[in-house]
Amino acid sequence: MGGLLVTDLKMQEGTAAVVVYSAGSNKWLKINANALVLATGGAGALYLRHDNPKRMVGDGYILALKAGAELQDMEFVQFYPLGLAEPRYPPFLIPPGIADSGRLYNNDGEEIHAKYQIQERPAAERARDKLSQALFNEIYRKGGEVWLDLQGVSEDAWHRDPFSASTTKILWERCGLMHRPVRIAPLAHHVMGGVSIDATGATSVPGLYAAGEVTGGLHGANRMGGNALTETVVFGAQAGKSAAAWVKNNPAPRTPSLRADLEAQPLVHRKNTAQKDPARLIKKLRKILWTDGGIIRSRYGLTRAIDDLDEIQTEAFGLEAGGDVRQLQRILELRFACQTAAIILQGALRRKESRGAHFREDFPEQDDQKWRGHLQVGLSSSGEMEWSFKAI
Ligand SMILES: Cc1cc2nc3c(=O)[nH]c(=O)nc-3n(C[C@H](O)[C@H](O)[C@H](O)COP(=O)(O)OP(=O)(O)OC[C@H]3O[C@@H](n4cnc5c(N)ncnc54)[C@H](O)[C@@H]3O)c2cc1C
Repeated sequence: MGGLLVTDLKMQEGTAAVVVYSAGSNKWLKINANALVLATGGAGALYLRHDNPKRMVGDGYILALKAGAELQDMEFVQFYPLGLAEPRYPPFLIPPGIADSGRLYNNDGEEIHAKYQIQERPAAERARDKLSQALFNEIYRKGGEVWLDLQGVSEDAWHRDPFSASTTKILWERCGLMHRPVRIAPLAHHVMGGVSIDATGATSVPGLYAAGEVTGGLHGANRMGGNALTETVVFGAQAGKSAAAWVKNNPAPRTPSLRADLEAQPLVHRKNTAQKDPARLIKKLRKILWTDGGIIRSRYGLTRAIDDLDEIQTEAFGLEAGGDVRQLQRILELRFACQTAAIILQGALRRKESRGAHFREDFPEQDDQKWRGHLQVGLSSSGEMEWSFKAI
């Protein structure tokens, strides 16, 4: 992130103002613009196991919401089933094509595909959710392990599809997948929900545009592998063009009053105050989301998660950095994380069915009669979340 963190965003009469914290210089900046394109990515790092950069906790969703935009489909979080879960190795993705050439089994030697009746191939591509649920059940519910054995697979096979070929050096050679079975567990991978935009990349707020994983709706309740990068290219260009056109057609004067409106978070920057550990709190948050707000959800678990998160959020907003730059960054990230997590959990609790990546064990069926549509959330004038359902 180059040490720059956008912490606040305000749109007024088609102009934008943002507050940015620069960790490098330990300074707060306020920047004005006549239009703004939000491209802050997703929130996979809210979960205990994930493959996103650590910082991806959904800042953009909260910035957009506070600027007056709406979010949709936030309950739809995609998990990738086959992440390396070996001690001392990063949680690399095992490519779907190569994974199907080997054996996937639990500690009792039971084949996972057969046990959970997963016929689709490649399973990690076409049955991403079913396979993630199966692994979650085996590992986190039953306390077992799941192994992937690719020992018999030839180097030629690794090179057959481009994704596997690109990982041969690291997985096959450095992680030793040619010599031994390895432990596998799912990972949070992608958020399908986000800021509501139209085909031009415009949000409902004049002058505010968005593109990429911070937006919602393009992938429905699930995402086909490979489409996210295409999305960033197509909609990034579209949003950029729209923002440029907006500025040309609306040469609004920069409004100094808008800059003055934004608070530069003085509270978290007071010196010599009691320290609490934001890193400990975010760890706790990730565990809560993983256990109750992720691959297998239920009313009981989601309610428990919302209550537990509430406590963390209260602590997070009471924290002060005591002049420590790193601590200040962590606190700001933690606050974004709490707010995004709360929206995901609330959305998941509201949607009483299973669809795409959202699986409710207490409502395991898809219910098109009641739930074919988008859950949307905005903020009321007093800052409360306002939920609505838009049928399609
Ligand atoms: C391991 C992995 C493999 C993947 N493989 C594929 C694939 O093969 N094909 C495919 O289509 N998709 C794939 N995806 C998904 C795809 O990479 C992402 O959806 C896509 O990169 C999102 O792009 P983006 O531009 O929206 O956001 P990002 O690329 O995530 O960029 C967002 C940027 O905004 C910055 N940012 C966030 N908040 C703030 C803030 N408050 N202030 C300042 N900066 C901020 C972040 O630091 C980051 O630099 C993969 C994802 C992962 C994690």
